Amino acid sequence: MLEMRTTCEHCTSSLPADSERALICSYECTFCADCVAGPLQGRCPNCQGELVRRPRRRAKEARISGE
Ligand SMILES: [Zn+2]
Ligand SMILES: [Zn+2]
Repeated sequence: MLEMRTTCEHCTSSLPADSERALICSYECTFCADCVAGPLQGRCPNCQGELVRRPRRRAKEARISGE
């Protein structure tokens, strides 16, 4: 499993697992909404991929299991 990144790779601002402001590309490069809307212009600067909203997790220690 890939670890969820908790900071923006551009400005290093905090993006906790339950943040609504985190966006990721298909390679899981992680950026904040401000950078994506501003300097990045909606594209990942690492791979040129499309950035989409990251699904939130309720807890940092994401338990992936059945109910
Ligand atoms: Zn940022
Ligand atoms: Zn990327």
